[in-house]
Amino acid sequence: MADGNKVVKVGSPERPLRVAIIGSGPSGFYAAEALLNAKDLAVQVDMFDRLPTPYGLVRGGVAPDHQKIKNVTMVYEKIAARPAFRFFGNVMLGRDIQVDDLRRHYDHIVYAVGNESDRRLKVPGEDLKGSHSATAFVGWYNGHPDWRKEDFDLSQESAAVIGIGNVAIDVTRILAEDVEVLAKTDMARHAVEALRGSRVKTVWLLGRRGPVQAAFSPAELKELCELHSSDLVVREDELKLDEVSRAALEKDPEAKKNYDLLVQQAKKGEGSRPRKICLRFCVSPTELIEGNGRVAKMKLEINQLVADGKGGLKAQGTGQTEVIDAGLVFRSVGYHGVPIPGVPFDAKAGHIPNKDGRVLDDKAAVVAGAYVVGWAKRGPSGLIGTNRADSVLTVKAMLEDVAKLSAPVEESKTPEAALATVKARQPDFVTFQDWKLLETLELSRGKQSGKIREKFTTVAEMLEAIKKARQEACLVK
Ligand SMILES: Cc1cc2nc3c(=O)[nH]c(=O)nc-3n(C[C@H](O)[C@H](O)[C@H](O)COP(=O)(O)OP(=O)(O)OC[C@H]3O[C@@H](n4cnc5c(N)ncnc54)[C@H](O)[C@@H]3O)c2cc1C
Repeated sequence: MADGNKVVKVGSPERPLRVAIIGSGPSGFYAAEALLNAKDLAVQVDMFDRLPTPYGLVRGGVAPDHQKIKNVTMVYEKIAARPAFRFFGNVMLGRDIQVDDLRRHYDHIVYAVGNESDRRLKVPGEDLKGSHSATAFVGWYNGHPDWRKEDFDLSQESAAVIGIGNVAIDVTRILAEDVEVLAKTDMARHAVEALRGSRVKTVWLLGRRGPVQAAFSPAELKELCELHSSDLVVREDELKLDEVSRAALEKDPEAKKNYDLLVQQAKKGEGSRPRKICLRFCVSPTELIEGNGRVAKMKLEINQLVADGKGGLKAQGTGQTEVIDAGLVFRSVGYHGVPIPGVPFDAKAGHIPNKDGRVLDDKAAVVAGAYVVGWAKRGPSGLIGTNRADSVLTVKAMLEDVAKLSAPVEESKTPEAALATVKARQPDFVTFQDWKLLETLELSRGKQSGKIREKFTTVAEMLEAIKKARQEACLVK
């Protein structure tokens, strides 16, 4: 029986530190790992995700033909198996539970909610039919329930991808790759079927600045050069460098690798494969042009590179324009966070304001017991591994704060009390054991159809499958 009066050190065996982590992507799992590994700390970690499935963008973002990268989930599984860890899937903060509920049951809240929305181009015609965000396309081909109902008209012969970061390269590769290569992966069935009927012959890949400023990595660029059924076409005249770019190239080995690959590729000319990826530098879309009730063409302005006043270069329009065919358009110009009720949000920056992972309110004061990790903390930059060191830093701040924390042993701050609230608010919550049942089904469905995995792609389907699997395994929640 809890003693309401006695004040004890939080993080002691008598009164473990209770942490709610919101979001089960890489940053959430790395925060859990750092907490569970902390010396001399008794801790209980509950992780929540709005989806019944864990792993965030590792499941819903990383491209299906990059399976090796997804093996990182084996590390997350080990974290989830720790006795002080619980998973509550299908529980959304702001919908099923509120920040006040979390405050009642936990000492610390860690927001690991990523950047789930995207930035807009802000050009005329952006909302025409056929103009989409890369987020929607990526979510659709990866079987994310939010994007299950999206419809992409792949009967168009020309598509344009705006942006030249790694996500833009993923989108381009999926449009240009031989679909039978993708059919063996964990790509959602609806996407494989739609891509089988694709008539896309040209994919424009459009960068605002020059080859040295491109954000793609050499590995991603190399893959584009080596596709089965597409040629990457690079214009030699767009590889000419100004002095600042040339100097930057010498200091940046990644940019140098990119540049050397591009020079080699430009020499190959148009190639003879049925599809073309036309990579263009120093162009910005200024208008999406309508034809037959949908996007049909895109107006581009040619840019020049000028000093940005910080030692780098920025794109500046020259007034010179050209028009390309583009019956499908995907914008990939950055991600943006989604505000959650009761959680501070910097609408301009698109993420949760913080100092070293401690959440700040609108007056820049620290919000006690609130922390942030991953893309929600620093914006949409960094690979999966980047989130590990970043989460460790936030946990360092949490441990400094907990060292000063004493509290009574309260009945509300127990695993049982938190579970009762979750049960009351979202009876269809999903445990990690449930997820493993679902995963076994996905793997066996995949095996039957010669794929790595056949994902469930709606929440209703997932919950139904879990319910049946539980009954068969005679499990109670
Ligand atoms: C298309 C794409 C491809 C990528 N490919 C690679 C790659 O090949 N290799 C690589 O190293 N990196 C890749 N990355 C980067 C990598 O995915 C990110 O660094 C990483 O996923 C960020 O982790 P996170 O935990 O901050 O966010 P996320 O992975 O986005 O996780 C956020 C989680 O929070 C949950 N959530 C959101 N709101 C709520 C709420 N209100 N309540 C409960 N849960 C909520 C979401 O469902 C999600 O599970 C890619 C990114 C993208 C966008």
